[in-house]
Amino acid sequence: MPSQSSAEGSGAGWNFDNSYASLPDALYVRMDPVPVRAPRLVLFNRELCESLGLDARTLDTDVGASIFSGNLLPKGAQPMAQAYAGHQFGSFTMLGDGRAILLGEQITPQGERFDIQLKGSGQTPFSRRGDGRAALGPMLREYLISEAMHGLGIPTTRSLAVVATGEMVQRETTLPGAILTRVAASHIRVGTFEYLSARGDHEGLLALADHVLARHFPALKDYAHPYLGLLQAVMQRQASLVAKWLQVGFIHGVMNTDNMSLCGETIDYGPCAFMDAYDPDTVFSSIDQGGRYAYGNQPQMAQWNLARFGEALLPLLHEDPRKAIELAQEAIQAFPVLFRSAWLDGMRAKLGLFTREPEDLSLVKELLAAMQEGQADYTNTLRALASPAVAQAPEFQAQGLAEWLNRWQVRLTRQPESLDMGRSLIRAQSPALIPRNHLVEEVLEAATRHGDYAPLERLLTVLSRPYEERPEDAPYRQPPGPSVQPYQTFCGT
Ligand code: AMP
Ligand code: MG
Repeated sequence: MPSQSSAEGSGAGWNFDNSYASLPDALYVRMDPVPVRAPRLVLFNRELCESLGLDARTLDTDVGASIFSGNLLPKGAQPMAQAYAGHQFGSFTMLGDGRAILLGEQITPQGERFDIQLKGSGQTPFSRRGDGRAALGPMLREYLISEAMHGLGIPTTRSLAVVATGEMVQRETTLPGAILTRVAASHIRVGTFEYLSARGDHEGLLALADHVLARHFPALKDYAHPYLGLLQAVMQRQASLVAKWLQVGFIHGVMNTDNMSLCGETIDYGPCAFMDAYDPDTVFSSIDQGGRYAYGNQPQMAQWNLARFGEALLPLLHEDPRKAIELAQEAIQAFPVLFRSAWLDGMRAKLGLFTREPEDLSLVKELLAAMQEGQADYTNTLRALASPAVAQAPEFQAQGLAEWLNRWQVRLTRQPESLDMGRSLIRAQSPALIPRNHLVEEVLEAATRHGDYAPLERLLTVLSRPYEERPEDAPYRQPPGPSVQPYQTFCGT
């Protein structure tokens, strides 16, 4: 094993400020990543690297491989495993980073703060029975899907690098190991608050809440009820995030409270996948037998998670426990309205609508019902609305969809904006490209089995501009053939 050197990567632009390390000790364990045998950089995100103020020429090298594997610590890093808890499929568990190490918070030249975290970096006190490691396939998958989400304009953690470790991990079979460098506005989760709440640590809760306010919601600092404001602001971000997921057909797959980030980024790309044919009951995850996290259930599950957040915050909401519960309940009950409003605004835009009419909700619902009835491809059907020849589009030949089209076209005539403006709006809101499951599988197979990263790199490029419709990208827009088995994803830990 190579021994860990520290204070390296100088000249690469590392600029750490480790504010999390000044929070109460209960929230983390200070420790270094466990070194790996033979790190090799297999994916590297130059654009993200530069935007963090880091030098891609220095890091897209063996030095980068050493840093992004945890073998070499960048200057100023204060590595730690973070503690948290979580409701997993409804049951509460004390957790923590069982296979991740936060290196520190990189301050960009623009003054923004980003967590730099290694995922798959070895055992920690929170590993329970796990090996602390990750397999190459799932780390490449997280890189691909998170960057695709970013391309779609959806708040998400990002992926800076994947390093193959040169070690094998034992899952159902033996697989090559890898480490993903994840970049996030923070890794503070609903479960981080639940962790302190379960320990009855009110001082810790207060310190963490103040940290989150300062870091993510500075405008609320001087609010008369900052912690109630925090609950409401987190709810607003989640309402907006889940609405965006639904609008692109994204299914997170494992919306446990430890996988819900307070800053409103999509986090933890495990069994997630994008829906092809529209069906709100779609579930891809092999472990989600009851369909708890099905596509159409995601808003309710977000509200359920937020109720857990509200519970954890109770001691900060009011000194009288009954009053605190009342305040939390009242706030949480507002979620469906917040969500509905974010979702309907987004769906209007997807239909090219600039104005609001009371019947818009039923217009949207009828389209979705007709799509479900006709097993229409969600992405391509919505994108076809941007075409002047939509009436001839194959997606709109089924009777229900053809009838709906007439109603929609009448609706468009009732707004002052031109049809062209409507089409531009649709093109900006409904992607032509999503990471189709069959394509994702294909490129991951090429990379993990044959060491051929070219198809993955190509797919990443195409997905970085999903709202463009280039003729050469046509193969990436094809839905899967009818023969493809129902797609299943696995947690892949
Ligand atoms: P996830 O399902 O990825 O959100 O992980 C849930 C919890 O299990 C987190 O606390 C992870 O750190 C932990 N975990 C997942 N895989 C492993 C592993 N291979 N070794 C140790 N801990 C793990
Ligand atoms: Mg997780």
